Amino acid sequence: MSEKNNNIVTRFAPSPTGFMHVGGVRTALYAWLWARKNNGTFILRIEDTDKEREVEGSILHIQESLKWLGLNWDFGPGAPGPAGSYIQSERLEVYKKYAQMLIDKGFAYADPYSEEELEVLRQKAEEEKRPFLYREHRKESTEAWDGTKPLRFKVPTLKRYLWQDAVWGELSAGEEALDDFILIKSDGYPTYNFAHIVDDIEMGVTHVMRGQEFISSTPKFLSLYEALGLDAPVFATLPPIMAPDGKKKLSKRDGAKDLLEYKQEGYLPDAFINFLALLGWNPGTDQEIFTREELIASFDIAKIQHSGAGLNEEKLNWINREHIKKLPTDKQFQILLQYIPKDITSLSQYSEEMLRKVAHLIVERIEKWGDVEKLFAEGDFVYFFTQPEYAKETLYWKDEQDSEKTKDRLSQVLKLIEVGSDESFKDAETVKMLIWDYANEEGRGQVLWPTRVALSGREKSPDPFTLLSILGKQESMSRIRKAIEIL
Ligand code: GLU
Repeated sequence: MSEKNNNIVTRFAPSPTGFMHVGGVRTALYAWLWARKNNGTFILRIEDTDKEREVEGSILHIQESLKWLGLNWDFGPGAPGPAGSYIQSERLEVYKKYAQMLIDKGFAYADPYSEEELEVLRQKAEEEKRPFLYREHRKESTEAWDGTKPLRFKVPTLKRYLWQDAVWGELSAGEEALDDFILIKSDGYPTYNFAHIVDDIEMGVTHVMRGQEFISSTPKFLSLYEALGLDAPVFATLPPIMAPDGKKKLSKRDGAKDLLEYKQEGYLPDAFINFLALLGWNPGTDQEIFTREELIASFDIAKIQHSGAGLNEEKLNWINREHIKKLPTDKQFQILLQYIPKDITSLSQYSEEMLRKVAHLIVERIEKWGDVEKLFAEGDFVYFFTQPEYAKETLYWKDEQDSEKTKDRLSQVLKLIEVGSDESFKDAETVKMLIWDYANEEGRGQVLWPTRVALSGREKSPDPFTLLSILGKQESMSRIRKAIEIL
């Protein structure tokens, strides 16, 4: 299935009933990848015909989520295309046209029963312990459909349907799966069952990707295609996304959170789609880190799995970290700049120049960009931008509570670095040579510990040579002098 085909058309067809979560966006990703791989077309269609379930703001949220991940649509909201509007509530005329076609062919009828009458029939079936089927209650002559009653589909033939699912292979279901379903409700809106088929036809969709919950309705869809005299597109049923333990389907409780929260937390879009792609697909090799281009090149419907992977945030963090590492240094710095909290940029010694020197240390410590704020909040790296405050005791090496000795050692360090040229502060290795011999003689911990604390004020920080080279001669000396004063 890897040949280039300009006629491939896929779509993502969400209902605006709440925030986008990982499951929805993975469907979008697979449809997008398949279209891009084949130089095809990717459509975003908003399925908003169930007005009661609609949640305000979701249409924008869907678009914002896709935009964040770079899943651009060729046709859809904001991207006009040959099908007119890609929002179902703005396409009611199209569904009416198809409804009329079905009426003319004798495959649709106005529902002859009121809700109350249907309830009686339903109850009767229940008492008799048999499934309730509308098709068993058709009436010989029915009135013309005037829009006040639901319009019902009349299944043309009762038979076993067989179809090929691109993931599952051959599937089939007997006539028990067929019934006269509603095409257009009495509120004038089409049902999902009807509208999505009309739209897939009108929009030339060749591949439909969606979850397993649609398999049981597929015979109904096929009977509608048959009534219309048209071939169905390829169906590719995607595996569910599992909870982190991989044992049950992901639910909100297991962390099916709002997709834009991941954006907020500072994941890289390319890392995120890399992670998503692997939740139900793998290329059959050991490769786990993919660029966007590599995903497009290696994605294949035929390699979508039957069972989905668990939503494991540790894996997401690992993938994100690998993507961060691969970014050019300057790109890392540009992104980092956006994540430096205001209370840091307003510190007296803050400068972009200093941040540039420290950037690699910060980047080494994060899994996602949102971690930067946490590191600073915990006091990490703050000392690069302001003189540290600390208790005198922190300067003591282990339980050697000796103020005089500590003072002597720091004074010695001060003398040694004082004779160093600016050039000898150019990197950690070079500046190390100034004090290394002395540290070896006197005891490394005894010398290097208080030096490090004098520079950073913290028990944990990069080694003293790194600190010396970043802070530079003047600032380092001033901090060591201050430590000697405290002692
Ligand atoms: N609107 C449907 C949903 O959100 C789309 C299913 C489909 O892709 O056909 O579940």
